[in-house]
Amino acid sequence: MRLKNKTALITGGSSGIGRETAILFAREGARVVVVDVDDARGNETVDHIREQGGEACYVHADVSKAEACANMIAVAEKTYGALHILFNNAGIMHNDDGDAVSTEEAIWDLTMGINVKGVFFGCKYGIPALRHAGGGSIINTASFVAHLGAATPQLAYTASKGAVLALSRELAIIHARENIRVNALCPGPLRTELLMKFLDTEAKKQRRLVHIPMGRFGEAKEMAQAALYLASDESSYVTGTEFLVDGGITAAYVTPE
Ligand code: NAD
Repeated sequence: MRLKNKTALITGGSSGIGRETAILFAREGARVVVVDVDDARGNETVDHIREQGGEACYVHADVSKAEACANMIAVAEKTYGALHILFNNAGIMHNDDGDAVSTEEAIWDLTMGINVKGVFFGCKYGIPALRHAGGGSIINTASFVAHLGAATPQLAYTASKGAVLALSRELAIIHARENIRVNALCPGPLRTELLMKFLDTEAKKQRRLVHIPMGRFGEAKEMAQAALYLASDESSYVTGTEFLVDGGITAAYVTPE
C-alpha cells in the first residue's frame, strides 16, 4: 500500500477527479477526508470507500470561505490525529465565463474565489497541519489551460489556473526545507461533468478533440493515478512541478489525422 498510515484531505471529493482520487487513496491505505459543497454526493464517496473496507469521513466546506477551510483542516487533524496530504482540487468552470468583453465581474469574482482563493485558504490552514505532521505533500489542481491559450474563451477560468500554477511554484520553494512538497497537477481535457457541461454539443466536443494527439478525452481515474504518485513518497524528490497529464495536448503543434 502506497499511502499506509497517511491522512489525505481532498477538496471537490464529491465528483470527478476528487472522487476517483479519494477512492484510490483509500484503497492505497490512506484515511481520507472528503470535502465538498455537494453533501449528498460527498457522502456517497465516503460510503463507497467504507464499503470497500477503507476509512473516510465527509466535511462540508465552501473552499472560498476562510472559516470553512480552517474547519476542514481542524476536523482532519482531530479525527485522524495528523494531516499528511492536501489535495486542493475543487474548482468551477462557469458557463457564462467568456472573453474579456462578455465576462461579468461577478463571474470573474466567483471563479477566482473558488479556484484561486480556495487553494490559498487550503494552503493557509493546511500548511501548519503538515508542519505538525513533520512534512507532507500538497497537490493543487491547475490545468493545461495555464499553458495554452484557447480560441473558445473561458478567461476567468484560464487566469485562475495560471494563478494556481504560479502560487504552487512559489510555495514549493518557500517550504522545500520543511519537508513539504508542493506540486501542481495539470490535467488535459477530461470526460468529467465539469468539461462535458461546457462542451455541450457534439460539434464543440469534436473541436476540442482535434487538438488532442491521443484523440480522446482523459478520465478522472487517470488523474487520480497521477495524484497518487505526487502524494506518495515515491515522488520524494519532486516539488514545484507542473505535472501535465494531458494526452499530449500541450506538446502538439499538429496532431495526427
Ligand atoms: P467536477 O465538476 O466533476 O468536480 C468538482 C467538484 O468541486 C464538485 O464535486 C463540486 O461540487 C466541487 N466544488 C465546486 N465548488 C466548490 C466549493 N466552493 N467548495 C468546495 N467544493 C466545490 O470537476 P473535475 O473535472 O473533477 O474538476 C476537478 C478539478 O480539475 C477542478 O479544479 C478543475 O478545474 C480541474 N480540471 C478539470 C479538467 C476537465 O477537463 N474536467 C481539466 C483541467 C483541470
